[in-house]
Amino acid sequence: MKFIYTLITVFYTFVLVAQRPNTVVCGHDMVLDINEKKYPGYQSVLNQSFDEAQRYSQNATLRNEIFRIPVVIHIVWRNEEENLADSIIQSQIQVLNDAFRLQNSNRDEIRDIFKDIQGDAEIEFYLKDVKRVKTNENFTVLLFSLPDEVKQQDEGGSDAVDTEKHLNIWVCKIQPIPFIGGQVLGYAYPPLGLANWPAGAEAPSKDLEGVVIDFRVFGNNNPNKLTVQGFTHEALGRTTVHEVGHYLGLRHIWGDGGGLFGGDSCGEDDGIEDTPNQGAQSGTECDPTLNTCVDSGGIDLPDMFENYMDYSGEACQNTFTKGQIAHMRSVLMNQRKLLVNTKEVAFTSDQVTIYPNPTSDKLTVNVSDMEGEITLEIRDMTGSLHKSDKINNPSFDLDVSTFSTGMYMLHIRNKQGSVASRFVVAK
Ligand SMILES: [Zn+2]
Repeated sequence: MKFIYTLITVFYTFVLVAQRPNTVVCGHDMVLDINEKKYPGYQSVLNQSFDEAQRYSQNATLRNEIFRIPVVIHIVWRNEEENLADSIIQSQIQVLNDAFRLQNSNRDEIRDIFKDIQGDAEIEFYLKDVKRVKTNENFTVLLFSLPDEVKQQDEGGSDAVDTEKHLNIWVCKIQPIPFIGGQVLGYAYPPLGLANWPAGAEAPSKDLEGVVIDFRVFGNNNPNKLTVQGFTHEALGRTTVHEVGHYLGLRHIWGDGGGLFGGDSCGEDDGIEDTPNQGAQSGTECDPTLNTCVDSGGIDLPDMFENYMDYSGEACQNTFTKGQIAHMRSVLMNQRKLLVNTKEVAFTSDQVTIYPNPTSDKLTVNVSDMEGEITLEIRDMTGSLHKSDKINNPSFDLDVSTFSTGMYMLHIRNKQGSVASRFVVAK
């Protein structure tokens, strides 16, 4: 046993030295690995349902207004330096606004080949509240669990403020990953019901929605420095931009083929049409000669270290692509629509009831306060379409007798938006 541990240690030490970006990871990888453990085989379906992601993106141009998101910051601190000053919080809000309005000072450093796909997301953030909680807890990422205790008062953290209507960001000291070393800078759960994410990647419960960030990489004027294995991370507030990207439905630009530390694969994609096919994370070096995969469609684009959803150094990051923006805006009109101030009446999951659940042959659906015709789709957890229909009746039955045993998503859309409900077929 001791021999095995030694081997593992040597292997990771080698990785850490040879490829320094692997010292720091986004907890999103942990989410994926956790779910591979919980749902064996799910990684093989990562790519099967991107058609729906594209369709969402096309719908996203329907509304042109600027979306404004209220933000609640939770400072959960144990040692004095973790109790970050208000000026650091303000700087982080500014970095978010700069990134999502394309006002970042390095925006023109993007290479010419990517200029046409660089976009202004027209998403803005404003500080609604700051909550400060002193704790005695350590927040540790274990191989198969994330430190969501920071989001719960009775676990030494700070309870979320209505996560459907606020972006909650928890700032705390994230402990180094035990045994294997390395450091998680932050993590976020994607929304429920997005086709470009596997089932089970979403938050375990509504109260856990939001973003967690290590206190040393928060803001761009932070006196605290994160040093891992001798390398000091250059923090400019863009880790939070990256995590908010996940929170709004974006995947890593290289498509997460390799699991925990981001292996090398051109076969996995991020589900976004205009990003280059990229086989692995860029690393912090921002090397313009990197081109891990051949792109289809004529022009073979290099790897895009300018993208916020890469693991490149924060100084090189300056861009969300128009495809990524369409996807995030679509999320703000659908899965996270209550986040943004809007005069429209939103269509919410409270309006849809389905029963019996689980079912063996028939599913009854009731939609209250229905406006106009609705479009429905049933997809399985790989994203494959099993049924689609247009219906004018607020109450109807769906025949699922031919469906095999498993979990399915019922998507219902009307002109106010869309909701997704999960149901189980059991024979
Ligand atoms: Zn990430």
